[in-house]
Amino acid sequence: MSTETNKKYLTKSLFNVGHECPRKLFYQVHKDLYQNNKLENPFLSALAEGGFQVGALAKIYHPEGIDLSDFSTKDSVVQTDELLKQDNVTIFEPTFVYENLLVRIDILRKVGSHIELFEVKAKSFDSRKDQFFYKRNNLCIMSDWGKYLYDVAFQVYVCKKSLPGFTVIPFLTLVNKNTFSTVEALNQKFLIKNDYGRTRILVVSGTNQSTVGDKVLTNIDVSREVGLIIENKVDLMKKTNEWDRLPFESKISQLTQGLLNDQKLTPRLDGKCKKCEFRCNPAPPLKSGFNECWSEKMSVNNVNEQFVFDIWNFRSESFIKFGRFLAKELREDDFDLNSVGDNGLTQHQRQWLQASKIKEKENSKYIDISGLFKEIAIWKYPLHFIDFETSRVAIPFTIGRRPYEQIAFQFSHHIVNKDGTIEHVDEYINAESGVFPNFDFVRSLKKALELDSGTIFRFHNHENTVLCEIIKQLEFSSETDKDSLIDWIKKLLIRKMNGKVSEQW
Ligand code: SF4
Repeated sequence: MSTETNKKYLTKSLFNVGHECPRKLFYQVHKDLYQNNKLENPFLSALAEGGFQVGALAKIYHPEGIDLSDFSTKDSVVQTDELLKQDNVTIFEPTFVYENLLVRIDILRKVGSHIELFEVKAKSFDSRKDQFFYKRNNLCIMSDWGKYLYDVAFQVYVCKKSLPGFTVIPFLTLVNKNTFSTVEALNQKFLIKNDYGRTRILVVSGTNQSTVGDKVLTNIDVSREVGLIIENKVDLMKKTNEWDRLPFESKISQLTQGLLNDQKLTPRLDGKCKKCEFRCNPAPPLKSGFNECWSEKMSVNNVNEQFVFDIWNFRSESFIKFGRFLAKELREDDFDLNSVGDNGLTQHQRQWLQASKIKEKENSKYIDISGLFKEIAIWKYPLHFIDFETSRVAIPFTIGRRPYEQIAFQFSHHIVNKDGTIEHVDEYINAESGVFPNFDFVRSLKKALELDSGTIFRFHNHENTVLCEIIKQLEFSSETDKDSLIDWIKKLLIRKMNGKVSEQW
């Protein structure tokens, strides 16, 4: 294996982008010309940091591994070749090249002519619930897992091509939600550092397999899934998109040709465009990839309009299929407006309201005045407003906690009195390192809210989700007041729905 300067390679990340939509490949390669929203998304950056920590922990589980991550691609290829001469070897980030394909594998273990390939992801896996295929069709990949499995399939494909004669067993290394940390401050052993704009993980000195406790990552053998992908035996069910139906090897070949010829491949143009990272209004000279794609189908004056997929909760695919792309082109008879809602507008009425406002270029807010007053009539003063700040991290901060367990570390509490005055009455924050704050959090919340029977408003459904999770955490705890805390949370979560008392968990 060798790499050539100035030669273009379809890397793992370019394959993944191109696999989502072939046109994205061109926009991704020409970063200097097209704005990419993903690059400025703080949520994605935080997720990436979690991923780096998981990657560093995975390496700890392979203490014999030789790390090539600091090598340039060219040097990594040379080192990989050299290390593979050994009978038994574990390598972090070895590089494989085959023609114009190039992959750097997270962790590779070679024993004779047998290779185990580990792709490390910060995604959680719950063996009791998670599955890669639909229960009713074990050839159809669940959409949640598709991108991970195709990513591994590409790596296996390149690895096998560059090492013919070797057997390759692929694994996804995932965060095991069924485990818990058996050591204190596991997360704090993997410090996130910003090294001149590049995220790096500083592993605290002395961290090794014995200091990280029981494994919180799990290796899932995905040989069957990867085999089905490479052999084109995956059932695409309802997917009618031409690109999705293309055989795996043909996709690789088309993406490679697109890359080598600097060609704009055919855009997929479907509902997925709604959230495309190239849908933006960039300041010149940057361009919008979305506008470029859709201007191939419609007048350039229309590309900044709202599309059918911008209508709330709307099944837009059939409209796109028949060339009806724009929300302003929707008609009243596209919606079922005859059914009556129990509580305000039905879904179709709301969708049509949105579409008709777009048609009429009307920006005013719709308020269901009578519904609002009906609702206000049952409120009791003082009104309480609560808002939680929480965190979920892959690697637990404290002993006994599970990966991605809910951590509630701050709330604010405002009240509105009957005379219209507003008070910021309470807040709680716990930023103490190594302390699991949830039980004190709920004690403080109880103290803040139990003084009267005023109506409580939460910022979002999230507040209820957090409290439901704290109930479970309390049930497994040895807190002496856990029964009274659980009872109080349950009472808080009960609300009247359609005249019936309903519990929300
Ligand atoms: S707008 Fe649609 S077709 Fe264009 S790159 Fe994005 S996903 Fe692909």
